[in-house]
Amino acid sequence: MTAPLTILGTGMAGIQLARQVRARDAARSITLITADSGDDYSKPLLSTGFAKGLPPERLASRSALALAEGLGAVVRTHTRVTGLDPEARTLAIGAETLPYGELVLATGAAPAMPFAIPSTLAGRVFTINDLDDYRTFHSALEGLGRPARVAIIGSGLVGCEYANDLVAGGHGVTLIAPEPTPLARLLPEPLGAALGAAFREAGIALESGRTLAALGEDGDGVALALDDGRGLEADLVLVATGLSPRTALAEAAGLAVGPEGIHTDRYLATSAPGIHALGDVACVDGVNAMYVQPLQAGAKALAATLTGTPTPVAYGPWPVLVKTPLLPVVALPPRQAPARWRIEGEERDWSALAEDDEGRLVGFALTGACVRRKVELARAAPALLI
Ligand SMILES: Cc1cc2nc3c(=O)[nH]c(=O)nc-3n(C[C@H](O)[C@H](O)[C@H](O)COP(=O)(O)OP(=O)(O)OC[C@H]3O[C@@H](n4cnc5c(N)ncnc54)[C@H](O)[C@@H]3O)c2cc1C
Repeated sequence: MTAPLTILGTGMAGIQLARQVRARDAARSITLITADSGDDYSKPLLSTGFAKGLPPERLASRSALALAEGLGAVVRTHTRVTGLDPEARTLAIGAETLPYGELVLATGAAPAMPFAIPSTLAGRVFTINDLDDYRTFHSALEGLGRPARVAIIGSGLVGCEYANDLVAGGHGVTLIAPEPTPLARLLPEPLGAALGAAFREAGIALESGRTLAALGEDGDGVALALDDGRGLEADLVLVATGLSPRTALAEAAGLAVGPEGIHTDRYLATSAPGIHALGDVACVDGVNAMYVQPLQAGAKALAATLTGTPTPVAYGPWPVLVKTPLLPVVALPPRQAPARWRIEGEERDWSALAEDDEGRLVGFALTGACVRRKVELARAAPALLI
């Protein structure tokens, strides 16, 4: 008999893995444990819901109960695992000790919070990284009973997507970030400037090159002080300053981890026997991508491994499609600083090709009408993990 499988996390990684294992082994005992509601939802849709006015229940495709029934699995919701003992093969849930046979850590990544939030501002400053967060923010928006003034801190993928989505939903948005142009980690300057222009045209106020100096109360809203001494007012603040893999459990248990995640080999095996890692928490052979496509490739390979066919994972070159309909953006960032960027375009339509010393394509970024080149360029770009 195969060992019972415990999967920690019911994000896309945990659920996809459970589905794939079940498809290969009808009899395997599978337990999923999650700190959240356990509803099955697609995280990328969180930053598309406000434009469509979607209530949280419309984003969940299945409840945890339906998920458990569909999978023939045990799903423990609102259950935070507090400890891991790889020698004894047990998990701690507060005072409870739970044995496992094989364990997969799919604990995802948590929003990085670069500053302390004064307790008086609870209920006005948010992050949205799961469906429960979306519920809370959605109800704060609804509670205002009018279009909100939202200040978003951070102009990376998550900040830009929420900015586009909230303004499309009729809310006022100010986007504050230290970089000179939005999406600076994905887009060379002329492309970021094109996105910034599209944002401004749509009414988003850009505070680029600015950091937040202080947050305080302003009646029922929030007073934001910028580093140039100016002040802004907002009803709600959304912090989108990056994500950090949730490695604390693994680290405390002595597994090999780093800031980029729990270290695994190509088989998703961690440094501890019987424990694998998958999804945003896993750094696979030096790569932690934090996107859906690599997570899907990992779930497929790991399901085969856990059901008796050891299978290493491989990732192709996958471009990131940023959900900013105000200006479509696709990027495949180069892994190292390229020798040069070849940038062409005007107004909204730009292509930027990253090349190495020998003129080989190592990444690209596209905006506007140029995004149609994504398939052709992705074919020519190097795979991330071969
Ligand atoms: C707004 C937004 C938009 C995105 N858009 C895209 C996109 O368009 N394309 C794309 O490819 N990627 C996108 N991504 C990234 C993608 O959604 C993630 O890579 C993916 O969802 C990560 O899934 P995961 O299962 O690894 O982690 P998570 O979804 O974070 O799940 C982690 C799970 O672990 C549980 N957990 C953690 N710690 C514990 C504990 N101690 N005890 C019990 N349970 C615990 C949590 O409760 C949760 O169930 C987006 C991300 C965000 C935030």
